[in-house]
Amino acid sequence: MMTVIAATGNEHKLRELKEILGKYGMNVISQEEAGFGDVDIVEDGESFDENSFIKAEAIMELSGQIAVADDSGLEVDYLNGAPGVHSARYAGEHKSDEDNNNKLLKELEGVPAEQRTAQFVSVVTLMYPDGRMVSARGFCPGQILFEPRGTGGFGYDPLFLPDGQDQTFAEMDQETKNKISHRANALKNLESMLK
Ligand code: IMP
Repeated sequence: MMTVIAATGNEHKLRELKEILGKYGMNVISQEEAGFGDVDIVEDGESFDENSFIKAEAIMELSGQIAVADDSGLEVDYLNGAPGVHSARYAGEHKSDEDNNNKLLKELEGVPAEQRTAQFVSVVTLMYPDGRMVSARGFCPGQILFEPRGTGGFGYDPLFLPDGQDQTFAEMDQETKNKISHRANALKNLESMLK
């Protein structure tokens, strides 16, 4: 099995990357497990692609091993794509997922269901020490509910109802989310590029 270091400190993302990339023969370990837990990578890119590249490159250079990074976020159509690359810090630096969700609900106050369409986006980048890089994008379309539902997952999961589902990302089991999520779709696209 090939060991790949995930450039993330987000346990939820790590679990998803481990489960999904594990199917492709990759043993994903966290940057912390690899001894780089205290490395704080500045994500100052203006797109998911740039940030995904910045994170994967930083961990690959530090470790000399294959690194994988996911940069992801939520794009809400009514808000012209916000919070987008600012998803993690939408309500401000050091704010919680709940604060971000509350801010999103406030921004969408009075907006009817049919105008609450959104999509999660993920760009996954695999960076190899020999300079090769493979990057793929995935989407998951859905809508933003009027109040949170469910306790699983992370981030905006309780407010996001994926198209064709009757459970939010926070209500469904991890296995179901990992089949339809933006990260799963990015990794499927990555897989076909690796082939
Ligand atoms: P990143 O770690 O800079 O890529 O920030 C990603 C942010 O986007 C997270 O902190 C969440 O707010 C949001 N996000 C990304 N993927 C998901 C997901 O699967 N569910 C819920 N929120 C997500």
